[in-house]
Amino acid sequence: MDTVELTISQAAELLRKKQVSAVELTQSALQRINEAEPKIHAFLKVTPERALAQAKKAQALIDRGDEASPLVGIPMAHKDVYCTAGVETTAASNILRGYIPPYSATSALRIEQAGAVMLGKLNCDAFAHGASTENSDFGPTRNPYRLDCVPGGSSGGSAAAVAAGEVVFATGTDTGGSIRHPASFTNTVGFKPTYGRVSRYGIIAMASSTDCPGPITKTVEDCAYVLQVMAGHDTHDATSSRRPVPDYASFLGKNIKGWKIGVPNEYFSAGLDREVEKLTRTAILKFEELGATIEGTSLPLQDYALAVYYIIIPSEISSNLARYDGIKYGFSVEREPGFKVDDLLEVYRKSRGKGFGAEAKRRIMLGTYALSAGYYDAYYKKAMQVRELLRRNFLQAFEKYDLLLAPVSPTPPFRVGEKVGDPLKMYLSDIYTVTINLTGNPGVSVPCGFAGDLPVGLQIIGPHFGEAKILQAGYAYEQATRFYQQKPKI
Ligand code: GLN
Repeated sequence: MDTVELTISQAAELLRKKQVSAVELTQSALQRINEAEPKIHAFLKVTPERALAQAKKAQALIDRGDEASPLVGIPMAHKDVYCTAGVETTAASNILRGYIPPYSATSALRIEQAGAVMLGKLNCDAFAHGASTENSDFGPTRNPYRLDCVPGGSSGGSAAAVAAGEVVFATGTDTGGSIRHPASFTNTVGFKPTYGRVSRYGIIAMASSTDCPGPITKTVEDCAYVLQVMAGHDTHDATSSRRPVPDYASFLGKNIKGWKIGVPNEYFSAGLDREVEKLTRTAILKFEELGATIEGTSLPLQDYALAVYYIIIPSEISSNLARYDGIKYGFSVEREPGFKVDDLLEVYRKSRGKGFGAEAKRRIMLGTYALSAGYYDAYYKKAMQVRELLRRNFLQAFEKYDLLLAPVSPTPPFRVGEKVGDPLKMYLSDIYTVTINLTGNPGVSVPCGFAGDLPVGLQIIGPHFGEAKILQAGYAYEQATRFYQQKPKI
């Protein structure tokens, strides 16, 4: 059985009909990993024994007719910022090398309890800082559609592993676009839920006010199944919402006739690649064919979103990364041969100096500067004020529209090495994704075609807790286009 082609719903059906066993499915995924990894390097760690043991348990559930979730027996993997009890978790950073968490992230635990089989941990930009997966301290991941291109980021390992059929689905985190961006680069579906819809407990924190765990899948239907399991209140995360989680799958297949959809012109700014613009506009016309009314609109503060993001997010990063001091977690110079401790500060300084990569250091410096006395009011406070206005912009837009449509990334996948030496260029990749992280809205990237042989995604943005609406529209669009059927040739 070949996992490359299978979606969750197809695999679940084969399992239920006993045409394949959970163990066979896991073995086939492991084999695929062996074939694909030398080319794409999506995994930081593969855990075959653990996976096969889980697969046996899943099969026992299936044999008893006990499979409550469509995820039972489905091979998957987590972005390496998800804490997984007993399995090394590094956030792709040297400073966490060797760190084995004593507990699992709530969403990872829920996926495990739903019966899914974890095959290992996936590469990403270190601490999720980046848009190409090149900031990983363990080497870049490659795009399965074109090996000389990046898979996007920061959840590039997750997106590449799904696209290459190494796993049937994966998890990612989206703090400024890190689920949607790599999904758009790999012809996969990446869902960023409303802030608070999925618990952040056990996710290595990047920026606590915007971090959102979510799924990367092959189809919108699969996305509904995984989100269903991940979403919901968690007593370990005070910011997780108590709102009941709707039955997402029940919205699939309903039409979107009469829906009002806004297209904000600020998302079609000067830096937008012509080919991406063409594909996005063609996708928008499809929604009209599906019965929605499309209207041009304006979200004036969108133009400031990237600047606001790159003040607030580094500020939170500088605070969240303070805990890696060479004492509590992972790497420490104290354990380096020949190192003598005569000064505690020296342990902090040297551990952080050696353990963090260039991008983490850059963000710690930016954030520390923006938060320092004398600059706090001019930068951080001002940015927070604009953020609030931006949030109101979106609230107003959703009084009028069911959904908004926009590009995900301003460019198609770019080449490995093309932007990594120029942080500002790299930051510009986030120009259309960071906004809804600041406002807390949910959004998805769904495949909308190819620029040559390079995948491009469309962004569907919804009102707060409008996940079901996004899935309903995303599914209708996907069924009308079926770009997801075009597989990479590796
Ligand atoms: N590319 C963005 C950044 O570097 C997004 C990161 C993310 O969502 N984790 O900040």
